Amino acid sequence: ALIISDDCINCDVCEPECPNGAISQGDEIYVINPSLCTECIGHHDKPQCMEVCPVDCIDKDPDHAEDKDSLYRKYLKLTA
Ligand code: SF4
Ligand code: SF4
Repeated sequence: ALIISDDCINCDVCEPECPNGAISQGDEIYVINPSLCTECIGHHDKPQCMEVCPVDCIDKDPDHAEDKDSLYRKYLKLTA
């Protein structure tokens, strides 16, 4: 999964781009639900939130490191 850092400026550009509805407004910054984030695998070539974020504050979440196979399995489970 990916994670949003506290450089987030709450612009709301990423939220509608997420194919899994994984992004929401948190208490202070936007947040990604790691159980819904497939890093866009199954939907797009590149993580759409990273593509649109104007301040590049989204990166891999070291606490939720997943390989492509497990991300794809998550995608299949979410779309079943
Ligand atoms: Fe959503 Fe894709 Fe960003 Fe994960 S990488 S939060 S699935 S847009
Ligand atoms: Fe925050 Fe970037 Fe999303 Fe804007 S696009 S809300 S700055 S994470």
